[in-house]
Amino acid sequence: MEKFEHYDVIIVGAGPAGACTAAAISPVRTGKRVLLLEGKKRVGLPMQCGEAIPTYEELLSIFPQAGCPELYDLPSDVYAGTIAGIKFRSPSGRTYVADLKGQMMHRERLDQHLFDRAVAAGVEYRLGERVHTVREHEIETAAGRYSADIVIGADGVYSLVSAATPAFSPNRDICPCALVLAKGDFYSEYIELWFESRFPGGYFWLFPKNRVGEANIGLGMRGPKNVRQLLDRVIAEIRDHYGLEIIGKSGGAVPLGGLKEVVVHRHFALVGDAAGMVFPTNGGGTGLAMMAGKWLGEIIAADQPLSLYERKVNNILRPVLQRSLRTRRQMDFFRKSERAFEALMWLANLRGWRNFIIG
Ligand SMILES: Cc1cc2nc3c(=O)[nH]c(=O)nc-3n(C[C@H](O)[C@H](O)[C@H](O)COP(=O)(O)OP(=O)(O)OC[C@H]3O[C@@H](n4cnc5c(N)ncnc54)[C@H](O)[C@@H]3O)c2cc1C
Repeated sequence: MEKFEHYDVIIVGAGPAGACTAAAISPVRTGKRVLLLEGKKRVGLPMQCGEAIPTYEELLSIFPQAGCPELYDLPSDVYAGTIAGIKFRSPSGRTYVADLKGQMMHRERLDQHLFDRAVAAGVEYRLGERVHTVREHEIETAAGRYSADIVIGADGVYSLVSAATPAFSPNRDICPCALVLAKGDFYSEYIELWFESRFPGGYFWLFPKNRVGEANIGLGMRGPKNVRQLLDRVIAEIRDHYGLEIIGKSGGAVPLGGLKEVVVHRHFALVGDAAGMVFPTNGGGTGLAMMAGKWLGEIIAADQPLSLYERKVNNILRPVLQRSLRTRRQMDFFRKSERAFEALMWLANLRGWRNFIIG
């Protein structure tokens, strides 16, 4: 019988959560043997993201204990533009402007950069090796059999590591999304979110990458409608206005059901989308995945118990994400009536948009 190759830590998934966890364990410094297993042949591709993240200052204003400035120290070619604010379009077509600062990214370059950081920190990796079985300390792919003292599920919204352990709940309220990448007259510093009633339980987004004259345009919504068909229809409506030319298509799914109740069980830990670390109000999770990955990696590097990671998640992330979930549920309720949602947006404009967009 072929022997399992043994590691101190195996991380399943080389997205932002897995790569940041791996880099923070830093095998070159700690001497730990870490393996990163990724199902895709090329990290970050296909790109499945709206590519907008808050600035580090905005992240700090939400999580004062974030403690990860170096994660935002990225090569300039990762940045695709600046975000000066958000334009919200209400069901009646009224536009409101909110002052929330962010950055547009080239997400595939961000993922590649975070992965390169992990490799430079001494992490071993296998690309194109999808994990199909997780049994206690043992992990199998089509190409290899491995075992580890600690197993990390950084494997996204449909996490296999999470599913292998009954202590973890599955992600709930998963929102399907479709997106296109387009060239055109996309030089605005404002990203747009349209909350029209034809997009039930979700929104249409138009995120200009103003450094390069491109945009990430997409639709996420819950309900019986075909997301791709409806997105194509909206794109046809705006095509001439922007001189829009499609250069790529993609899609994905966002877990909007909130942070999982349990993110650590014995030698297992979940991070990023696998743990439900996404703002239920807006579907953003990249910054959270990077931040929590760093916390988890540092705790493992210092030989501290995984329960410390869970405590940190519960102290810092949980209150904010719980508030965000409550706000999202209120929004769902108000969206049953176009007039009620119109009034909610009017109120958000009066009181400030932070609660509407973050929770
Ligand atoms: C359409 C869309 C738009 C979005 N827009 C934004 C946005 O604008 N801003 C924002 O902040 N967030 C956005 N998000 C959310 C954001 O993309 C995620 O929160 C973020 O990618 C989470 O990082 P992660 O590392 O946890 O998961 P992922 O980035 O999903 O990485 C998981 C990795 O695990 C790998 N994997 C999965 N299963 C296995 C397996 N069995 N074996 C081996 N490898 C496996 C996958 O191939 C993948 O590389 C969006 C998401 C979608 C789908």
